[in-house]
Amino acid sequence: MKKIIIAIDGFSSTGKSTLAKELAKKLKYVYVDTGAMYRAVTLYAMERNFINEKGFKIDLLVADLDKINLHFIFKKWKGFAEMYLNDINVEKEIRTLEVSQYVSQVSEISEVRSKLVEQQKLMGVKKGIVMDGRDIGTVVFPNAEIKFYMTASADKRALRRYKELIDRGDDVTYERVLKNVKSRDYIDSTRLDSPLIKAQDAIEFDNSDMGLEEQFERIYNLVLRYV
Ligand code: C5P
Repeated sequence: MKKIIIAIDGFSSTGKSTLAKELAKKLKYVYVDTGAMYRAVTLYAMERNFINEKGFKIDLLVADLDKINLHFIFKKWKGFAEMYLNDINVEKEIRTLEVSQYVSQVSEISEVRSKLVEQQKLMGVKKGIVMDGRDIGTVVFPNAEIKFYMTASADKRALRRYKELIDRGDDVTYERVLKNVKSRDYIDSTRLDSPLIKAQDAIEFDNSDMGLEEQFERIYNLVLRYV
């Protein structure tokens, strides 16, 4: 089987990561969740008060970028890799609504993006990778063999995210989650550096009313044409 690069982009909670994980498992590929990397940088900034409700000290974060060491460790029993920030497992901490509230502001910073994009490109050197994010088909791997662009209505996405957070035991309301989803959509798609846009050659999937199994079957059949 030929090894390829599969790029999956789309708004938050469009089911990108579920799909990417399934594809990686089935094809025995590496799955990379680039959102986790932006979330880990955000957590770093929050822990040092570089970003909070009073503002964002961009210069301090940029000056510290060399001190931020990110890596993934694959957890066999979970079937995916967890995010480590300076050798500490932050997989749980990066998924809170608080991190979601600041992550899009951090992701606008070009210095942050170039550091992470450079690492992401290296991860794809040997191919055999499924990567999801916002700029994978446009910036990280413009030559990926196959690209998907996932969409779904904001209400459906907020409901999915709300259920996930409640299942984790977080104290959130649906209204707060919906507000966050909409504000991230806006910042992510209007920022100057690498905004979320559909790559010309990406295949679009609106899964507002499509079950995950049906979606997976369709996408897997398309991928089989390339491997
Ligand atoms: O995918 P996830 O929702 O975890 O991503 C969190 C945030 O990270 C996004 O809202 C976006 O601001 C940023 N991001 C990005 N580029 C990527 C992946 C994520 O800007 N490739």
